[in-house]
Amino acid sequence: MEAWHGVKVVALVGGVGGARFLQGLKALGAEVTAVVNTGDDVWMHGLRICPDLDTCMYTLGGGIDTERGWGREGESWTVKEELAAYGAEPTWFGLGDRDIATHLIRTRMWRAGYPLSAITEALCDRWQPGVRLLPMTDDRVETHVVVELDGETKAIHFQEWWVKHRAGVPAKSFAFVGAENATAGPGVLEAIAEADAVVLAPSNPVVSIGTILNVPGVRDALRKTDAGVVGLSPIIGGKPLRGMADACLDAIGVETTAEAVGQHYGSRKCSEDGILDAWLVHTGDRADVPGVAVRAVPLLMSDVDATARMARAALELAGVDVG
Ligand code: GDP
Ligand code: CA
Repeated sequence: MEAWHGVKVVALVGGVGGARFLQGLKALGAEVTAVVNTGDDVWMHGLRICPDLDTCMYTLGGGIDTERGWGREGESWTVKEELAAYGAEPTWFGLGDRDIATHLIRTRMWRAGYPLSAITEALCDRWQPGVRLLPMTDDRVETHVVVELDGETKAIHFQEWWVKHRAGVPAKSFAFVGAENATAGPGVLEAIAEADAVVLAPSNPVVSIGTILNVPGVRDALRKTDAGVVGLSPIIGGKPLRGMADACLDAIGVETTAEAVGQHYGSRKCSEDGILDAWLVHTGDRADVPGVAVRAVPLLMSDVDATARMARAALELAGVDVG
């Protein structure tokens, strides 16, 4: 896998799907910069919570609970039980005891005025993820979901919809609060401009990749970079894997198929705001995306080797020449 050393790859990622995919890129030995969704971030119990950044950091740093896919391995839940005994809301959001240490440090730095990018770097000093993790922005951008609840139309935080309601209440629309005034995090646009390849992980197209694309300048940077831009489908056989991405796609009127998601991202060449040169779908799926090279390969991230093969297929399709 020597061949990929020094190849600069930027990956746009969410949480679980993104983190797993980064393991594959890392295994190739590429020099990886991950631009991570922060739209899921939220304050709870006075702590600043960054689910997707933490999932990437713990997964790549070897601290993740692999069964759950989020939070720390070997976790205990004493603080959660104590909070519940006080009836402290929200009771539907779990932070384990070990995980709370991460959150105490993040929150302390936050209150001292450090930007999220610097905090993330400090936390990564411990975890050594082997991939540069960049928050998509240091500004506060929060994904909210417009729903009909108790006979009222209201916007709730994405976490409340996803975790408390398990996406069971139909979403009417998503609002990326703060996005229009946000600037991309330090290094994000530069990394895209200087990349040898840009990859959209098989992450949620709406509330992970879509949120990152809403940060001003990101879409433009993707359209302008000299690097090839390749996406991997999170939809296999008309279904998302482990998750409820279909509920998000429904809300924006995109079918839950690899083809529809590829068309939603669109071609850099042939559409006004498209971002893709190439689109990878799972073996057996097909997609016709005008102006985009489509290839079918196995896209199941069953282990790191299989994921590394996906990553290699993406880089090859991005036109990276490793001699
Ligand atoms: P989240 O922030 O934790 O929801 O994670 P992401 O947005 O990064 O990824 C969620 C997406 O990953 C889901 O829509 C799944 O369809 C997708 N996903 C999970 N496992 C796999 C897999 O093995 N292969 C593919 N192609 N997609 C996957
Ligand atoms: Ca997420």
